[in-house]
Amino acid sequence: MLTLPVLDERPDEREPSPCGSADSQVVEIGRKPRRLPEWLKRPIPSGGGMYFAQRLISELGLETICESGKCPNRSECWSRRTATFMILGETCTRPCGFCAVKRGRPEAVAEDEPERVAEACARMGLRHVVITSVTRDDLPDGGADHFRRCILAVRERTGATIEVLTPDFNGREDQVATVLDARPEVFNHNMETVARLQQYVRRKSQYEVSLRVLEVAKKISPETRTKSGLMLGLGETTGELLDTLADLRSIGCNFLTLGQYLRPSPRHLPPERYLPPAEFDELGRMARQMGFDEVASGPFVRSSYHADEMARV
Ligand code: SF4
Repeated sequence: MLTLPVLDERPDEREPSPCGSADSQVVEIGRKPRRLPEWLKRPIPSGGGMYFAQRLISELGLETICESGKCPNRSECWSRRTATFMILGETCTRPCGFCAVKRGRPEAVAEDEPERVAEACARMGLRHVVITSVTRDDLPDGGADHFRRCILAVRERTGATIEVLTPDFNGREDQVATVLDARPEVFNHNMETVARLQQYVRRKSQYEVSLRVLEVAKKISPETRTKSGLMLGLGETTGELLDTLADLRSIGCNFLTLGQYLRPSPRHLPPERYLPPAEFDELGRMARQMGFDEVASGPFVRSSYHADEMARV
């Protein structure tokens, strides 16, 4: 029998709260400043592997979501010499309320980027490469062909397995097909949050469109494993979360990541609550029971966190 974790069961419409303190250890939940719980405190990133990756990425003029997204796992991942490359520039065309990536008018696409990403992967000795991008609604193909070229370049240069974490391509099947034409081993697209909170959290993206992207990917390439992820602590209820997981399973989604939403700055959406690690464990167990092949669930889990281990399943 399933034991439901104790999540707030009050569905309501929430507005972003005013800005919080600049103290990194103090954040706001709703309007109440709260200290980060012990389990969410992490050391400042440092270490040899970290500097190696940082230097290499800067030398090759690349972007990573690790840095642009202010990911709390940078120290751990970069020390393990893993990173998630962010292609198609550093400026996103969508105004999601949770994301630290710069938004505005994007740069021209760098035609030599696939080779530079491949060079970085080769020099880092990566065996599993994760490639994501900003959303490029300004490009006729949403950047799909650039994804395809990056996958081919990395595979040719390194032989690594490849995971893409794509935008929604506005649900365009032809654009999803273009990416899949290069046969990535894992096709990841994040739902980010439950249906009711989509507009509050993602603003210009839609739940049904994201679900369709994953469904279409599985239909076009059944052997490619599909993956999705949600940030928790934004005000979702247990029932809403389980509905979303059921929707993902109904379209054959293989892998799932569940992590705590952390506010990148006081300008971003405030978290509604912090789920204790035991609650993440329980949610992970429930998700496995629903049939996902592999689930990563924990406060610091992000969609690319230890992606190499998940992809080996
Ligand atoms: S979890 Fe992903 S985005 Fe964060 S540092 Fe690791 S590889 Fe980068």
